[in-house]
Amino acid sequence: MGKLPIRARVATTIGGAAGKVSRLTGRGDGSVIGGVVGLRVAPDLLRQLAAGRQIVLVTGTNGKTTTTRLVTAAVGSLGQGVATNAFGANMESGLVSALSSAPEAPYAVLEVDERHLPAMIRATSPRVVVLLNLSRDQMDRAAEIWLIARRWREAFSENPHVRVVANADDPLIAWAAGSAASVTWVAAGQRWHEDSWCCPDCGSHLRRDELGWRCGECPLSRPPARWVLDGDNVIDDVGMVRDLGLMLPGRANRSNAVMALAVASLFGADVDQALPELRKVVSVAGRYTSVQRRGRTLRLLLAKNPAGWLEAFDVLGAHRPPVLLAVNAQGPDGRDTSWLWDVDYRVLAGRRVLVTGERKTDLAVRLEADGIPFELFDNVDAAVDAVPPGDLDIIANYTAFQQIRATVGRSA
Ligand SMILES: [Zn+2]
Repeated sequence: MGKLPIRARVATTIGGAAGKVSRLTGRGDGSVIGGVVGLRVAPDLLRQLAAGRQIVLVTGTNGKTTTTRLVTAAVGSLGQGVATNAFGANMESGLVSALSSAPEAPYAVLEVDERHLPAMIRATSPRVVVLLNLSRDQMDRAAEIWLIARRWREAFSENPHVRVVANADDPLIAWAAGSAASVTWVAAGQRWHEDSWCCPDCGSHLRRDELGWRCGECPLSRPPARWVLDGDNVIDDVGMVRDLGLMLPGRANRSNAVMALAVASLFGADVDQALPELRKVVSVAGRYTSVQRRGRTLRLLLAKNPAGWLEAFDVLGAHRPPVLLAVNAQGPDGRDTSWLWDVDYRVLAGRRVLVTGERKTDLAVRLEADGIPFELFDNVDAAVDAVPPGDLDIIANYTAFQQIRATVGRSA
């Protein structure tokens, strides 16, 4: 920290104080407000705070926060400090807060909003960028995610020093990473195909088979992967197979873990060193957490968009406990709930389905169309009371998730 210019030092001190005030007054965890204040004093703060560190940027539509946590754990196995924005504050101010709160850490693993990736590459000069997936978010349409991918392509060709770790199974990701000078391809899988029927390069139909995907008209095809997620196993870049054995549930988290191992290996951590650290991660920003409530065990899952709902269904308890679905349509969720029609709810057949949230009737209409019986509830506690003691899985979109967390408490 001693080498920071005086203005930057003043800015981080003021920013840190503002963050502390924000925490004390209960206005949040302080991770954004501190950065906002700091940036106002020194607009170049992020560049200065990033200078001289080994930076990893993590982006994509789904799995950013979890992957950031897993990469932090994997890189942390090297035994040196790692700065990170663990709570998903992924705009410039969140990155500033993360770096200024760990001034001595030689490494930083930073979640970045997908729209801000090019600017954050310019500001932090990362050694590695991790690209997970790209699909429609609530407010995006297909043309917008293609535009994001095109801006990434431009950023990578302008920054040939950046090493990219990318999911080879997502065609849009593969196209975006294709302009980078150096890519580590990971076979991380793609369950959600609805946003990638067309070739991102020429617009023709993509063909899929057991070997992956390829364009019928141009040379774009799935790149051969160095790291592979194979069921519950990771196959590393020298072909060694290991059981992942994660505490975090679901296929999406296994693929996030393989991405994390690929990143850590670029910094010299081998799988036997990094994997035990990944296994210690049990929850991420309140997700996957079990909470006791009125004699029931609630497990909270966040799903913000159609692809996210598909991944959440994959994580539901195999013993088929009842599932509560909660949908809101506030600003961060997207006001329009038409995305509900992109999700196939028929996988819930045979399970007891409970529904709550501000837009529960929208969801009810959708479930009706899929022939899934459901029960409506005014709030989470009414639903909890309606199920027998035991497990209750809960899938909620963004603000519904935050409300439920506030109700049921953040403990355990
Ligand atoms: Zn093509």
